[in-house]
Amino acid sequence: MINKGVWSGLVDEFKEKGVTLVAVSKTKPVADIQELYDLGQRHFGENYVQELVDKHNQMPIDIKWHYIGHLQSNKVKYIAEFVNLIHAVDSYKLLEEINKQGLKHNRVIDVLLQMHIADEETKFGLDEKEILVIAEQYEAETEYMQNVRICGLMGMATNTDDEAKIKSEFYRLHNFFIHLSDSAFFNKPWFSICSMGMSGDYKLAIEQGSTMVRIGSMLFGARG
Ligand SMILES: *Cc1c(COP(=O)(O)O)cnc(C)c1O
Repeated sequence: MINKGVWSGLVDEFKEKGVTLVAVSKTKPVADIQELYDLGQRHFGENYVQELVDKHNQMPIDIKWHYIGHLQSNKVKYIAEFVNLIHAVDSYKLLEEINKQGLKHNRVIDVLLQMHIADEETKFGLDEKEILVIAEQYEAETEYMQNVRICGLMGMATNTDDEAKIKSEFYRLHNFFIHLSDSAFFNKPWFSICSMGMSGDYKLAIEQGSTMVRIGSMLFGARG
């Protein structure tokens, strides 16, 4: 069961602000995805490769699938043909593998680099310096890296009630996103996505400049 009222409220709010809503459908049945699809939702996010492949095979072909989880290099091949955006690239090795699979399928695969902004040790991601190193190497190997395109940054704030803390983490991510747009990715208009904000913190994320939010439980209900 999906929450239609919440969905249309978010869509109205985001249209005004130019924010893309990614409906995070992980663990939810395809019937729920179909319900949102029928209302007009096209961007859906998943965080397990097998689940994404299964759902892609069952659902309408014009859905834009986002892979939002941690991705292992050896699994890129399963989603390379159809994935719309890979959110959480956190190594050059993974970027190279995505490029290789993009070439194999004769397409350019769009990705975001995941920046680590939260306190939690367990969350994946890169710091500013590591992102700069990857951006430099990517630029130096442009000719070879033709089948993967870095379109922006993604991050997750600490899971806390401390709004000031969440705000400062989103500020840091957006600030670095803007910095990169003016430096390493200057003159690359596709570098335009700052993916931050989930059900619990999307308002703060949008205040801080998010262009893409990933919302699950607010739309689909709590996950079991
Ligand atoms: C599950 C998940 C979300 C959505 O979380 P909700 O709190 O259900 O909105 C967003 N981003 C990532 C990376 C996730 O894994």
